Parts: sequence; C-alpha cells; structure tokens
Amino acid sequence: MDRKELIKLKCDLLINGVRLNELRNDLFETQGWDKERAMCFLPAELKLPLEVFVQIRENPEANFRLRIFEDKLFIQDKANNKICPADFVSLPPFSKNFTNDLTPFEKIVVYNGTCNLNFTWNYYCDYFRTKQECKFCNLTPAQDFYPEENISNARKNAKQVADVIAAAKQYHPDPKSILTRGTPPEKQGLGGTIQILEELAERFPYKNDRERTKVLMTISPTKNIDDVKLVYDLGLHSISYNFEVFDKGYWKAIVPGKDSFIGRELWEESLIKAVDYYGPGRVFSAMIAGLEPRQSLLEGVEWCADRGIVPIVVPFSPETGSAFEGFRSPTYKWMMETHLMAADIMLKKLPFLGTEEYWKEDAPICAECFTGGFIYDIVKENAGLTDYHSGNKLSNEKLILESEEVIK
Ligand code: SF4
Repeated sequence: MDRKELIKLKCDLLINGVRLNELRNDLFETQGWDKERAMCFLPAELKLPLEVFVQIRENPEANFRLRIFEDKLFIQDKANNKICPADFVSLPPFSKNFTNDLTPFEKIVVYNGTCNLNFTWNYYCDYFRTKQECKFCNLTPAQDFYPEENISNARKNAKQVADVIAAAKQYHPDPKSILTRGTPPEKQGLGGTIQILEELAERFPYKNDRERTKVLMTISPTKNIDDVKLVYDLGLHSISYNFEVFDKGYWKAIVPGKDSFIGRELWEESLIKAVDYYGPGRVFSAMIAGLEPRQSLLEGVEWCADRGIVPIVVPFSPETGSAFEGFRSPTYKWMMETHLMAADIMLKKLPFLGTEEYWKEDAPICAECFTGGFIYDIVKENAGLTDYHSGNKLSNEKLILESEEVIK
C-alpha cells in the first residue's frame, strides 16, 4: 500500500473502528498471555507503515481487524486478506516517571503517536452543570465511564504539567503539547490558564517567539477581548478557539454553552484578534466533520484559512456519554471526499502548511502524531512533504525496545 492508501485506511479505521476480539484470542492462544489479561487488552493507537498513526476505536462490526501471524501484528480485511503490517505505539521512556510532587506521569498526560503530549488539565466543564454542554462532548461524564483509564479526576496543576514537559525535553529536541480542559466558571472560563502559562514561562524561558515552549491550548475565549493578548503576553505558543461547527444555526444548537456565554460574534473576533498577536499558523479552530453539511463545514475551513487560522478538521466519532451517543459517523466516502476538499482549500490559502519549515519550526503539533484525525496527513502528502515527525521523533532504538515489551 502506498501512503495515500494508508491514509484512506486511517480514515476507515477512525470512522468505522477496528475489531479486536480475534487479536485477544491470538494473544491468549499463540502469545502465551493469560486469558483475563488478553480479554481486557485495549491498545490506544496503531502505527501503520510509512509513519501513519491512528487511534484505535473498537467496533465489533468494523471492516478491518487486528491479528497476529508468526508473532507479527497485521491488519486483515473481512475476507481474511492481510492488508498491511502494524505495530502498537510504545510509551516513551519517561512514561513511568513521577512529577516532583510524586504523582505518576500516567495521571497527568497521555501520549499521541511518538511526538505529541496531550494534557487534559481538568475534566470539569461548567456547561454540563448549566445543561448547555456541546452535544458531541463527554468530557465531564467520561470520568464516570472510564475510571480505570488514564483519567484522573484531580486537576493537574501547572507544576505537574511543566514536570512532564521537562522530562520530555530530555528525549525530544522540541516536545509538542496540547493542553485542553473543560470551561471553568471562574473568570468567564480563564480559570487556571494563567498559572500554567506563568509556570511554563518560568521553567522554560524564551527570548523570542521561536523559542516559546510548543504548547497549543484549546480553550474558550472570555468575554473580555483583552484576554486574547493577556494569554499571548504570558508566553503561550499557539491557541485554538474551536468552532466545532461553522453554520450559525448548527452552532446555536450543538454548542449552546459557547453561544450563550461567549457568543458567536466574540468568538470570531477573538480568533481574528489572536492572529494579530500569534501570527498566521499559530491560531487554530477545530471543526468536526460530520455534524453539519459539507458545504458549511468547507465555508468554515475557508473562513479560517482566509484569516490565517489553521482549521483542525476532525472526523465525528460519537462518544459514550455525550448527547450524540449511539449516532453514526457519515460514510467513509463522504468523510474522505470532505477532507480532501478541506485540504485543498488549506493548501491553497495557507501555503505555509505545504512547507517542511512550518512543521519543523512552527507547528505546535506533529502532523503524523495527530492520531484522531487525518487532515494533516493529507495536507503533507499532497504537498509532497516527507519529513515525517519533522525530526522530532524519539530514537528508533528506544522505540524498538519498548514495543517488544508490549507484545510480551
Ligand atoms: S466547552 Fe463544549 S467541548 Fe469544551 S468541554 Fe465544555 S462541553 Fe465539552
């Protein structure tokens, strides 16, 4: 399979999921795992050939399944054809570390691919209390559904986040982090942000914009437009004010909390203002493909791209505990075509996305390690870029050692 086909496979795996039951039997029957351990095995991510990484979403009805043949992992289709080899993504060598206050890293951070650190620094969103939560979101209920997973109800504090980034800096030349959280009631949603930024600036001083610690915060703007500048001045590298849906009618219905507490006009104004400070390429807005018609989604992509804002197009995946639990993603064809169109707009209007320099020097996320979406895989592939992970990968030697342990 060439890389374009592997990206299509990633799209299918993200929207239709993957079957894991046969893999669990293989682990028990041929790999010497005890039955209980094998039946509970739920890997988070897969590495396909040619540096294509994808989140694993289990679905017993999926088109593809994982199997082990001669001690190697493969993706197989419904007709039992081996489609391609795969690997589990190993944890980085610092994953068993502790923060200075002796909290295990696994309570603070999850890892995406080999490059991205992902912090959810609290699971509380006030919109669940006011019954105006975003309809696709399960952030606050998630703590009840997945108590055994890497989700800690405790708030992560600024020092803990900085401790993890400091450890990652010993292995990555320039670690990239996404920091997200629910919208707290304090300071119209700003609560907690300032402390984190002050801690990061103190621990990782910078002399210019290039040297800022690569952190992308996905947060809400506040009612005070001056807070856009405040957050930038405190040292943030990149910001994402997520539209989620672009059509104004869908926006009111699907993200009612954002609409009533901040409002659409101020949301747009905050995004535009942010580009004045951060510059093009460091301001983002996520839009979920599959919640609104293709045309309005693409209008949103165009609106952002025209203003130097990078769209984060993510395929809709109905979450347990959200109002959309039990819904389905659109078809594979719709999803793939929509993403290809979005990528065309992005490359045309934001030409820096088609340069190795942007992904190496500026982007706060690794395109390949954005495992829940494939828009940046398409963007880089269509631009002919081949410096996967932009030189930011862990050493292969360390990865091989760790992945051997996963199969054992
Ligand atoms: S603002 Fe919306 S998407 Fe964000 S945590 Fe709250 S409900 Fe979820």
